[in-house]
Amino acid sequence: MRFQTETLPDLLVGRDRAKELFPLDDEEIKCRMLADARRNPPPGSALPGDDEGLFTRVYRWRDAVCMMPPGMFKEVAQMRHQLSGTIKNLFLAGDYMRVPSVNGALASGVIAADEAANMLTVPEFTD
Ligand SMILES: Cc1cc2nc3c(=O)[nH]c(=O)nc-3n(C[C@H](O)[C@H](O)[C@H](O)COP(=O)(O)OP(=O)(O)OC[C@H]3O[C@@H](n4cnc5c(N)ncnc54)[C@H](O)[C@@H]3O)c2cc1C
Repeated sequence: MRFQTETLPDLLVGRDRAKELFPLDDEEIKCRMLADARRNPPPGSALPGDDEGLFTRVYRWRDAVCMMPPGMFKEVAQMRHQLSGTIKNLFLAGDYMRVPSVNGALASGVIAADEAANMLTVPEFTD
């Protein structure tokens, strides 16, 4: 079977399932992950029924990816609330201020920049 289109699926697992896969060799991990993907394909998936012609890379990131445990959003909101206004000209940005992803880091940077810009319009800083 041949691909009609070029696709790059990114299959990511964590926690117990990742620990289970870590000791296996790359080929075995590839087979198990693709079997999982075939069992529950996303709508419109172009994943072929067999592994022939597929190019795969396996990465093992130990304890590297930020997890989002239940209650995290509440904790982060509380932390932001506690920090707010404690030091007038301190503006924090980073994924830990929002969501552990590039989007979260970016959003926090935009907000921090807006807050800094707003502070600069306050008379004591414009004089
Ligand atoms: C393995 C892995 C896979 C990921 N996959 C995805 C993904 O597919 N999609 C997604 O959206 N997100 C993903 N993420 C999360 C994403 O990478 C992070 O949420 C994002 O990079 C956080 O950006 P940041 O700017 O807050 O922090 P970082 O990117 O960690 O930047 C912080 C910087 O500060 C520097 N630094 C730290 N301490 C000091 C210090 N004391 N002095 C000077 N410099 C310092 C560090 O060296 C680093 O360069 C992944 C993360 C990991 C680890």
